[in-house]
Amino acid sequence: MKTIDDFNFANKKALIRVDFNVPLDANFNITDTTRIDAAKPTIDKILKDGGSAVLMSHLGRPKGPTPDLSLKHIVSKVSEILGVEVKFSEDCVGANAEQAAAALKPGEVLLLENLRFYAEEEKGDEEFAEKLSKLGDIYVNDAFGTAHRAHASTTIVAKFFSQNKCFGYLLAKEIEAIDKVLSSGEKPITAILGGSKVSSKITIIENILDKVDNLIIGGGMTYTFVKAQGGKIGDSICEDDKQELALNILKEAKAKNVAVYLPVDVVAADDFNNDANTKIVPVVDIPDGWQGLDAGPKTLENFKEVITASKTILWNGPVGVFEMPNFANGTKAVGDAIDEATQNGAFSLVGGGDSVAAVKQFGYEDKVSYVSTGGGAMLESLEGKKLPGIAAIYE
Ligand code: AMP
Repeated sequence: MKTIDDFNFANKKALIRVDFNVPLDANFNITDTTRIDAAKPTIDKILKDGGSAVLMSHLGRPKGPTPDLSLKHIVSKVSEILGVEVKFSEDCVGANAEQAAAALKPGEVLLLENLRFYAEEEKGDEEFAEKLSKLGDIYVNDAFGTAHRAHASTTIVAKFFSQNKCFGYLLAKEIEAIDKVLSSGEKPITAILGGSKVSSKITIIENILDKVDNLIIGGGMTYTFVKAQGGKIGDSICEDDKQELALNILKEAKAKNVAVYLPVDVVAADDFNNDANTKIVPVVDIPDGWQGLDAGPKTLENFKEVITASKTILWNGPVGVFEMPNFANGTKAVGDAIDEATQNGAFSLVGGGDSVAAVKQFGYEDKVSYVSTGGGAMLESLEGKKLPGIAAIYE
């Protein structure tokens, strides 16, 4: 894997695809700078080498030029975070951008206007990508969140850099983390999959059955599996048309020697509401009018035993309706068990959609080994797909 550590950027211009798609309030103040902070190490290294940096990103989903989504709103904050006065080009391609890039001296940084002001960006237009390529000597991709998109700046532009292209630190870390779980993880490897639906996780399950020793299934997905096996799930969430699929997964897991752990008891509620009445019942015997909204105590003991004995852990999806405090206990308990395993030397990766929100909400961010920054890109990686933005660097 070629990273920025394989290059000396002295007197070179790096064209860096960053993910500065940050949230802005009504006054265009950035409400969360995580993504800018995360890109800093890559930019710092390039400047420290004696190079200059041309930063390109999208912001929001504009259809053509949209002043509210101009990246000029973030220039002062980026300058503050980098500790360098960042210049701004009001067009991301063309004569102005080329002149601004050409005028950069070592140690200087230029931010280009929102790439998505051009429809060509998302179309992956080759001519547009070639125009972008004129702005740097070395192409650096450090935007994992868009690595699953074959856009001009994330993928197509790479072909104009022959060997002069590489991953930034952030993207390299994401690739390493996924690799540690799916290819080179120390055994026993455990995947914890939660969330609401089997249908949205099926491709991940199919891909990881070849890689893991243990599969913990929790959350709303549980009830499709339980019903398919003849259990009584009351009013719990269920995808009736996925029951056969659920049985096939269990059969396949058995054939591949993967131990599957499903909840044995649940916190059932008489309404989908934080203040509903609750009781602990066996997962196979949920009364009508009641629905399982969180994992029960015996279940959490079982999950904990498996998790704390694991050396590699992947967590995607909450095991209960964690947004409601009365049904967040299971998700927190899973987080605690992963924390314990990680302290004992396990590698733990959390990623994809809602799991990141849960991890942040409960403060597990610093307790797990790695939290992925890319929702959709992480899910596609776990599904075993080759991400175009990553493949383009290897080509
Ligand atoms: P996903 O986006 O597929 O990872 O699903 C995450 C959502 O699943 C969260 O919003 C949870 O509230 C929801 N969820 C987890 N457990 C349950 C459950 N037992 N019943 C309904 N929804 C659930």
